Amino acid sequence: MESFDSMINLINESLQKIQEKFDIYQKEFFTQRPPEFFCLELNGEAGELANAENKKLKGKPVADELFADEAADVLIALMNYSNARKIDLGKAVSDKLKKIEIKRQELAEKGEAY
Ligand SMILES: [Mg+2]
Repeated sequence: MESFDSMINLINESLQKIQEKFDIYQKEFFTQRPPEFFCLELNGEAGELANAENKKLKGKPVADELFADEAADVLIALMNYSNARKIDLGKAVSDKLKKIEIKRQELAEKGEAY
């Protein structure tokens, strides 16, 4: 579990630093918005990503760049949302991964896949 622990530490520290720098940049150059705005934006961007995947699923051509672009939009919106809502993403994600890992281990002991 050393790799899991080091991953958790890296996520906790790195994400927090990235989120802080991102917040400084956003506050300097962009209009401040409430968390509700960014929540709607996040869901809109996730919807755009889902639409791209749905299009591909139906056999229609979708440029790889579109997936990357929409995935980036989702992350940007999530960081804006988290900053506006004062969520420490590094802590939130690492706490969640720990819970998921405990559940995964419990299932593995019963021979079940997560
Ligand atoms: Mg988009």
